[in-house]
Amino acid sequence: MITENLKAVKERIQIAADRADRDASDIKLVAVSKTHPVAVVREAIDAGLTVFGENKVQEAERKITELGRDAAEWHLIGHLQSNKARKAVHLFDVIQSVDSLELAERLERICEEEGRDNLSVLVQVDLAGEDTKSGIAAADLAKLVEFLKGCERLSFDGLMVLPPFFDDPEATRGYFRQLRAVRDEVIPGGELSMGMSHDFEVAIEEGSTMVRIGTAIFGAREHNE
Ligand SMILES: *Cc1c(COP(=O)(O)O)cnc(C)c1O
Repeated sequence: MITENLKAVKERIQIAADRADRDASDIKLVAVSKTHPVAVVREAIDAGLTVFGENKVQEAERKITELGRDAAEWHLIGHLQSNKARKAVHLFDVIQSVDSLELAERLERICEEEGRDNLSVLVQVDLAGEDTKSGIAAADLAKLVEFLKGCERLSFDGLMVLPPFFDDPEATRGYFRQLRAVRDEVIPGGELSMGMSHDFEVAIEEGSTMVRIGTAIFGAREHNE
């Protein structure tokens, strides 16, 4: 099933890229494997997937320990609690969900303590002002970006957004466009992590360089968090 789903997703990425006059190879596919067991991730690796997104440190730890740190590129896409920051530094290649100055400071300090020379981070921006979702408010972004640009260990590589859910993917377009404008301002040419199973085509049209796709590859999750 993963093989067929992956083929369909790649075709959809290609069509959206063509429509936007973009090169599909500029769009990284992050397979969101949260809630799925390690056997499924292994199957996905065998199907050719190389980048995985997990939203919980503990769950990711189990999978990464079993499959191996080098079996794939591992991205954290969920909120990172400060008491799990050290573990995250050990486990992940990219932390997409940096959402506060305090967290960034902590990650930089831990990288230094643990001798990690380079950790790629994206800043998750809260464009909707939703209390329930993590992400830094646009008003507080400048300070965080300034800190990240001065970091020796953290490599500030771009922005991520998790917009509110709408049935109609077109309704998300404004958020994607807004994130791109913020990106152009704070980190021109940086990564834009935006687009999920139901709206990644719109995100690609708006300039996404990383789509985070779970359901369209793995099928529905039993527990939706
Ligand atoms: C779960 C999740 C996704 C993937 O969602 P799908 O709709 O299953 O593709 C993407 N990004 C984040 C931050 C998520 O938590």
